Amino acid sequence: MLTVHEGEKAALDRHIYQDHWLSSGDSTSSLPVPANTAEFIRTIGVGLAMFAVAWGSLSLIKHAGRVTPLWPANAVVLLCLLRSEARLWPGFLLSSLVGNWAADALAGDSLATAMELSLCNTLEIVVGACGLRHWVGRRIDLTRGRDLVIFGAVAGFIAPLLSATLATTWLGLPMGMALLRYFLTWLLADALGVVILIPALLALTSEAIRTLWAPGAVKRNILSLGVLAAVVAGVSAQSSYPLLFTILPGLLLVTFQMELAGAALGVLVTAAISVGFTLAGLGPTSVLHASPTVQIVALQIFLAVSVFAILPVAAALARARQLKTTLAASLEAAEAARAESIEAQRWARMAEQVAGVGYFRIATAGESTWSDEVYRIHGLDRENGPPLQASLDAVHPDDIGRITEGLRAARKEGHPFAGQYRVRRADGAWRTVSSRTVSEKDASGRVTAVIGTLLDITVYKQIEAAALESEARYRLLADKSSDIISRSDMQGLHTYVSPASLALLGYRPEELIGEDSAGFIHPDDCARTLEIFQRQVAERREHAVEPVRYRFRHKNGEWVWLEVHATLIMDAAGEPVEFIGVARDVTRAKAAEAELLAAREAAEAATLAKGEFLANMSHEIRTPLTSIMGFSSLLKEVDALPENARHYVQRISTAGQSLLSVVNDILDFSKLEAGQVELDPHAFDPAAFIHETAQLLAVQAANKGLDWRTEIDGALPDLIVADSARLRQVLLNLLGNAVKFTDKGAVLVRIGYEAAGRLKVSVIDTGVGIPAERRDRLFQRFSQVDGSVSRIHGGTGLGLAICKSLVELMGGEIGVQSEEGRGSTFWFTIEAPVARAAEVEPLDHVAAAGEAEESHPAHILIVDDLAVNRELVRAMLTPFGHSFEEAGNGAEAVRAALRRGFDLILMDLQMPGMDGFEAARMIRATAVLNRTTPIIALSANVLPAHVVASHAAGMDDHLGKPIVPAALAAKVALWAGATHQPAAFQEAVEAG
Ligand code: ADP
Repeated sequence: MLTVHEGEKAALDRHIYQDHWLSSGDSTSSLPVPANTAEFIRTIGVGLAMFAVAWGSLSLIKHAGRVTPLWPANAVVLLCLLRSEARLWPGFLLSSLVGNWAADALAGDSLATAMELSLCNTLEIVVGACGLRHWVGRRIDLTRGRDLVIFGAVAGFIAPLLSATLATTWLGLPMGMALLRYFLTWLLADALGVVILIPALLALTSEAIRTLWAPGAVKRNILSLGVLAAVVAGVSAQSSYPLLFTILPGLLLVTFQMELAGAALGVLVTAAISVGFTLAGLGPTSVLHASPTVQIVALQIFLAVSVFAILPVAAALARARQLKTTLAASLEAAEAARAESIEAQRWARMAEQVAGVGYFRIATAGESTWSDEVYRIHGLDRENGPPLQASLDAVHPDDIGRITEGLRAARKEGHPFAGQYRVRRADGAWRTVSSRTVSEKDASGRVTAVIGTLLDITVYKQIEAAALESEARYRLLADKSSDIISRSDMQGLHTYVSPASLALLGYRPEELIGEDSAGFIHPDDCARTLEIFQRQVAERREHAVEPVRYRFRHKNGEWVWLEVHATLIMDAAGEPVEFIGVARDVTRAKAAEAELLAAREAAEAATLAKGEFLANMSHEIRTPLTSIMGFSSLLKEVDALPENARHYVQRISTAGQSLLSVVNDILDFSKLEAGQVELDPHAFDPAAFIHETAQLLAVQAANKGLDWRTEIDGALPDLIVADSARLRQVLLNLLGNAVKFTDKGAVLVRIGYEAAGRLKVSVIDTGVGIPAERRDRLFQRFSQVDGSVSRIHGGTGLGLAICKSLVELMGGEIGVQSEEGRGSTFWFTIEAPVARAAEVEPLDHVAAAGEAEESHPAHILIVDDLAVNRELVRAMLTPFGHSFEEAGNGAEAVRAALRRGFDLILMDLQMPGMDGFEAARMIRATAVLNRTTPIIALSANVLPAHVVASHAAGMDDHLGKPIVPAALAAKVALWAGATHQPAAFQEAVEAG
C-alpha cells in the first residue's frame, strides 16, 4: 500500500493488526458491547492491533520520509471480522476506528483529519466484510475459483476503490497529478495489502499450523522455509538485476512441502523480507529506476501475483493428498473386505467338514457347482468336475426314479425336495445320504437354479439299525419271558406289559396298558406296596432293597401272589422317569411257606406236648420209685436182716437206681433237645475235680478187678472256669461205659490242658472195642452199637448223645478211637479259661451243711398226698429226733400252719385239691405263726421250671424225688429253725 506522507498534509493513516485466532470463538451477548470478558478483551485487542500496525507503518514512513511499503492494517481488521460472528463486528469496527484515529493523530494529523481518514478505512473494512459474508458466507475457501473471484472483486477492488475515492474527496485536494497519485496510492496500497495478506492469513488455520508440527515433517518444513528466506534475502539484497522471478520456485518449494500453510507462510516471509529491503532502497525493483512508490507498488504486484499463482497449486496439492488418503483408505477397506471374505470361506469350508453337510447348485442352464463335502461324499476329486449325470448314475436303482422326479419338479416347478437315498461312491461303497433343495428364481419367477444340501447319514442309519435290532432283541426277550415284564410311568400307569400277563394273570397286555396297577392290588396289600414304591422314588434308589410281594387280581377274580423286582429308571439329571418291573407268580411258594409255617407250629406244639408228657412220665415214675428206693435204703439199714433178704434188697435198690438213671437220661436229653439246659460256669481246681470224680467209680472198677488210674498230661492250671456239674455228668457217663464194657485190663483217665484255654479229657479202656462200621452211629440218640451188647449190658443208648450235646454246649468236641477186641479211647475237649483265685465260689452249702452241722430236733410239717411218702420221710428223719405233723393236701397244710408254728415245712407240689404252690402262697400270706418258717419243696417235679415256680410261691429250697436219705437229712439240718428270707426268695424269682 502506498501512503503519501507530506508535511503539510495529514498523513493517510489507518492501521490495525489482529491475530486471526483472537477472533475465533463464540458469544451470546448482543451488540455492540461484548457480553463477557473474553470478548471485551478481543474487542480492545482489535483496536490496539489497528493502532499498533497503523502507527508502525506511519512512523516507518516518517523516518524514511518516503512512501510506506504496505498498509496491512485494514487487512488485519478485515480478517478479524471474517473470522467472527457478525454481532461482534460493530464493537470491533468501533475499536479499530478509535485505534486508527489515535495512530493518525499521533503521527501528526489534526484530530478532524485523522477521524476522516479513519472513517474511510472503516468504510472499506465494512464493505469488504459485508460483501464477502453476503456472497461467500462464513466459510471462505480461496482455493475455490468462485470465492477467489468474489474476494478479489469486493475486498481487493470495490472496497479500496470506495475508500480511496472518499478519502481523496474528503481531503479536498486540487485536481491534478497529485490527486491522481494520492488516489492511486491509496487504492493500490489498500487493495494489495488485502490481496496479499488475507489469503495468507486465512490459510493459516489452527489445523494447518498443527500439520506443520507433524512429527517427521518439522525439520523439512524449517529447511524449506530457510531456503525460501535465503533466496528472498539474496534477491532483495542486490539492486542490479531484476531477479524477482527466482523467488517463485522458493515459494513453490514451501508450497509443495507444506501445502496451504506453506504457501501462506511463504508469502508472509517473502513480503516481510522483500519489503524490508525495498524500504532500505535495495532490491530488484531498483532496476526500474522509478520512484520508491512505483518500486513498492511493483513489488506488491509481484507478491499479489505470487499469491494467486501458488494458492491454486497449494489447493491442488491438498486435494491430491486428500484423494490419496481416500484412495488408501478405500484400498485398505477393500483389502480388509477381501480378507474377511477369504476367512468367511475358510469358516464355511470348516463348518461344512465338521457338520458333514455339503451343498450344491444346479443351474437350469445345465452347469452345476459342488462344495468340497459333496465331492467327498461321492468319493470324487474336483478335477473330475461336478458330473451331474455321473452322480445320478451312482444313485441306487431303487431310489433313482424318486430322485429324478424330485429334481425335475424342483427345476421345472420350483418345488422343494427333501429325501434320503443311496449312492454308490467311486470306490464302490454304498452311502446313504439326506438331501434338501430350494429353487432359485429370477424376477419373472422362472427357476434359474436348484440349490441343495447333502448330508452323509450312513453312520446314523447304521446306529439306528443297530438300535432297532437291539430293541427288537430285548423285546423278544421280554415277550418270551415267563415272568411278566412291565414298564410304568411315574403316575403308575403301565406303558408296556409283556405277553406273559395272559398266562399268569389272564389279561392280554393291551388290557393292562394304560391301567394303574393299584386298581388290581389286594386292598390289604395296596397301601404297603405303594409305600415301598414311593420310598424307592423318594430315595432315588435304582433297585428296591428286596422284592415286593402282593396279591394281584386274576381276570377270573382269584388272587395271584406276585413277587416284583422293581427297577427305577432315572434320566440324565437324576430325575425318576419310569419303573421297570419283573413280576413272578409266587402263589405256590406262598402256599408252601404257609404249609411250612403250619408244620413248624404243629412241631412246636408236639415238642411242647412231648415235654409235658416227659415231665408227667418222670413224675409218675419217680413217685413209686421214691417208695422203692426210699424203703429199700431204709431196709438195708436194718441190722437183723437175713443175708438173702439183704441180697434181695440190694437188687431192688440197684434196679431202682437204673430206672432212675433211665428217667434222668430221658429227661436230660429232652431238655437238651429243647435247648433248656443252661450252663453254670464257675471256677474250680481241675486236678482235684478229676480225682474226686474218678473215685466215684473206682469201687465198681475194683469189683471187676480192673486196674484204675488217673493221669495228668503236662501242666494243669490251678483253677479253670467251667460248669463242673455238667463236666462231671459227661465224665461219669464215659467212665461208666468204660467200666461196663471192660472185663479185664485197665481204665485210664488222662487230663490235659491246651494252650487255647481248652481242657482235654480222655477215657481209655482195654475193653471190647467198637467195630469201625458202627462208630459213626455212636453219638446218635437211641443208638446202641449192638442189640446183643445192650441186652447184656443194658442202657438206653442216650448216654453218648447227651455227652455230645453237653460237650458242644460247653464249646468243645467229642470223639472216639477204638479197635475191636482191644479197647476204646473216648476223648472230649471243652472251653475252660484259666480263672483267678478270687472267682472261686464257696463249696456247695448243702453238702457243707450236711457234713458240718449237727441236726437239732425240730417240729416238722410233712405235706404229701401219698401216705406212703409221708411215712418214708418220717422214717428217714426219725433217727435225728425230730417230731412231725402230717397233712394230706394243701388245704390241710394251711390249716395246720394256722393252728401252730413249725420249724420246717416239707411240701409236696403236685396234690389233688390245693397244690403245694397255692398252699405255700397262703401260708406266707395268712399263717402268722409260720410266715417265716422255711418251706422245702419235696417233689417228683424236678424240671427247672418247677424249681423256679416253687421259689416264686414263697418256698426256700427244692429237693427232688426219689429222696436220697442223706440229702434229705442235710437239707433238714440246713433249714430247720432257719428263717425264710423274702429278699433271697425275691432274688431267686428274678434269677429264675
Ligand atoms: P448206653 O446208655 O446204652 O450205654 P451209650 O450212648 O452210653 O448208651 O452207649 C452207646 C453204645 O456205645 C453202647 O451201647 C455200646 O455199644 C457202645 N459203647 C459205649 N462206650 C463203649 C466202650 N467204652 N467200649 C465199647 N463200647 C462202648
